[in-house]
Amino acid sequence: MALPEHKIWTVEDISHSIPDYIKRFIYRLPGGFICKTEGRMEVLYVSHEVLRLFECDDVEEFRFLTGGVLPGMILPEDWDRFRRARKAWADQVKGTAEEDAPDFSFTYRILTKTGKAIEVNHIGRVVSDPQMGLLSYIMIFHPDTFLLGSERDTLTRLPNGKEFYAYAGLKTAELVSRGYQGQIHYLYLNLQDFKRYNARNGYSRADNFLVYLSMLLRSEFASGFVSRLGDDHFAVFTTDGKYLTQLAAVRERLGRNEEFSEEDLKVGIYTVEDAGKAKTPSECTDYARVACNSLREDPDLSVRFYSGFVENKVKKDTYILDHFQEALEKNYIRIYYQPVIRSLNRKLAGFEALSRWVDPQYGLLNPADFIPVLEQTHQITELDFYLIDRVCAHLKELQDKGQPVVPVSFNLSRTDFKVKNVFEEVEKIRSKYGISPSLLDVELAESIVIENKEIIQEQISLFHRAGYQVWMDDFGSGYSSLNVLKDYQFDLLKIDMSFLSSFNSVSKNIIASVIRMAKSIHIHTLAEGVEKEEHEKFLSDNGCELLQGFFFDRPEPYEQAVETVLKKGIGYESAEEKEVNQKVGAVNFQMSEPFMIADFSPELTHISCVYANEGAVKLVGRIGNTIEEETNLLNEKDSILMGKMREYFIMNDRLRDGKFHPFIIAENGHLSQMFYQLVAESEHHFVVLIMMEELDSATRQSNLVHLENEVAYNLVYSCINAVQINLKNDTFVTYFPSVSFKGTAGEEYKGARQLFRVFCDTCVYPDDRERYREFADLSTVAERISATPFKMLIAQFRSKDADGKYTWKVHNFYIPHNRGEELIYTIRQSVLELDRDAADFYEKRYGKSGK
Ligand code: C2E
Ligand code: CA
Ligand code: CA
Repeated sequence: MALPEHKIWTVEDISHSIPDYIKRFIYRLPGGFICKTEGRMEVLYVSHEVLRLFECDDVEEFRFLTGGVLPGMILPEDWDRFRRARKAWADQVKGTAEEDAPDFSFTYRILTKTGKAIEVNHIGRVVSDPQMGLLSYIMIFHPDTFLLGSERDTLTRLPNGKEFYAYAGLKTAELVSRGYQGQIHYLYLNLQDFKRYNARNGYSRADNFLVYLSMLLRSEFASGFVSRLGDDHFAVFTTDGKYLTQLAAVRERLGRNEEFSEEDLKVGIYTVEDAGKAKTPSECTDYARVACNSLREDPDLSVRFYSGFVENKVKKDTYILDHFQEALEKNYIRIYYQPVIRSLNRKLAGFEALSRWVDPQYGLLNPADFIPVLEQTHQITELDFYLIDRVCAHLKELQDKGQPVVPVSFNLSRTDFKVKNVFEEVEKIRSKYGISPSLLDVELAESIVIENKEIIQEQISLFHRAGYQVWMDDFGSGYSSLNVLKDYQFDLLKIDMSFLSSFNSVSKNIIASVIRMAKSIHIHTLAEGVEKEEHEKFLSDNGCELLQGFFFDRPEPYEQAVETVLKKGIGYESAEEKEVNQKVGAVNFQMSEPFMIADFSPELTHISCVYANEGAVKLVGRIGNTIEEETNLLNEKDSILMGKMREYFIMNDRLRDGKFHPFIIAENGHLSQMFYQLVAESEHHFVVLIMMEELDSATRQSNLVHLENEVAYNLVYSCINAVQINLKNDTFVTYFPSVSFKGTAGEEYKGARQLFRVFCDTCVYPDDRERYREFADLSTVAERISATPFKMLIAQFRSKDADGKYTWKVHNFYIPHNRGEELIYTIRQSVLELDRDAADFYEKRYGKSGK
């Protein structure tokens, strides 16, 4: 009996009068077909996918092979099993509303055109069509392509993406066939910074968390379909109008978990208004994903609906991907330079190179527009190396022209390390231009280094060995900052600008302690986002070495950037200055004691103040001077104090032992104790940290009990040397240790008599020695002083200067106040050195001077 012919529709028929119920089904179901549910079960529509499964070239072959009916599609041995199972299912769902009935799924074999029996998975729904009666919407899938129903995520047991798309397709088709008028919502959910959570908590905790989240999603979106698309990305398909309430419930329950806040769950939503015109499930999910990803740039938002805004963004993203190569070739990609300023000397210490895309259509594109897009396709690596190449070329050009250069830092991306041996690539470029590695600084964002630990560690050490500095960018923007410091060797921390943008007492405290901490582990500091004068002041006072931000300049083309800083009176820092200042940068500025950092000329004849903290300014203020006035005084020719310091430094081998050296200064009736420490030394600089301590009455009591009298201080100040002697104990204290009177200032030594004998034999001019011996005889000195009207012995002798020459000096013994056994001995410059006539007179008497 010839079978009655019926029309089997395919996609090709779309332009003809294909019925509505098929049209709506077509695109969504790659492996789908429609057949009547009852009677002979004629196939009304087949997709290409099904034709392919049967190895049929066209629908006529398919009809020939199967008779165009469902039973003809199934291997006869499996047909009975299928029929029974289907009947059991039908009985089970009897009475249930069509749309609530579960899908029927089954596995059986089909016979292909070439005679192969292959197993397929079948999933179907029954729908009643107003014209056609009961129809079955069915999908079959080859197990090799994918197995619907078994495509579960092994961790969360949620359906995976393939199953999600298949389900969404089927469900949509079914809704459409029922004439559903409502909306369909696709939610794309992403856990922000889950990689960091992973890195911080280990994979098993992270896995548990994902299982927990999927449980939440499943229970709150009970009427929807939840899937894990991969990693920390989930999707929900739902027609439930209360989906936002359900989402809020998920968030709320998520927020109870200590380590996550509600805002960490970012959600993009795409709503299908007309199910009949819906795009494919994977397209719909993509829109939701795009909406979700666009939230990355808005940390305060956690939900976004796909809209025109997002649509434009998709267009722009696509444009960027399509035109990146062209942009490189046509030099639309420009390098902008942002100055980095040294806080200590307010000089230009470097630049950060940042890319810009100056597009003929879109205008100026910022990294935020194109970097995330290029990262997805790994093209960012091309951009990064292009930038390094241009930077090196530019440095070379400047050097060739004999113009000054400062180091330039560049940013690398996470994908660079996946694609290339970054170090080798950079070295290739650098050596091509012959640039010194000391002119290139590598910036790695915190988010890069939490992955690929071994690779990054190795790369960092390669860069170090070759002489580059490696910086950690955006320090403090993530969770694992401190861990990262433990695991990697960075030369510098770039403190994330978020701390400055909320410039309150908490963030100030954090910045200050980050700086202190960095110094204690020998890492330099740079603060980004310096926008105000108060930022600069705060950072300088807390010892942050380098500053970058709009306050100095925005990123600009090189020439403009140089012009901007020069206009502000900011000059280039030389390599020598950099070396010195990097050492000075190690000093902890956050000390409550007064201190200043002084830079001496190499011959120690000139001093300039590099930095003085508030305490130091006040202390010098009490003496009656500003820091500037004080240094001006010291820089006057013949400054006695400067001479003393010079002698002191030279005597202590220029403080090269790295220790603190005490030194006492008396000025305008104030006595202060200084502690000098050499910080850095180079051809043109001798930088000393000076800790200052005012010897107030309390400390005077303990340290220098005997110099209470202000007149005495001033006397001491005008002295080349001052020694305090205790006759009874035969001890002495020297205040200005020098070549002639050695020792540590303020400390008590045994052997006062011996001291004067040695001084006489080594420092007094031979012709004057006999006279001096008599003068400085400590066994008679007290008696002789008492006999004088002013309680003072005074005489002039020639004694040795630091340079070995002998000059006339006034030597003096007196008893300060009424302390019988205590004596003060001072040496001062004599006027005889200025008064030639008087000197001649003396020399006639005591012999010619040895000068
Ligand atoms: P980043 O490395 O943290 O660079 C600093 C960003 O902060 C720059 O944004 C800069 O213009 C901006 N900035 C500097 N001072 C201030 C300030 O005082 N206030 C504020 N609000 N912002 C300031 P830009 O140039 O838009 O770059 C954004 C990010 O894109 C960079 O962040 C960097 O991570 C990345 N980037 C830029 N160019 C490249 C590149 O060629 N390769 C790679 N891999 N990343 C790049
Ligand atoms: Ca950077
Ligand atoms: Ca940064």
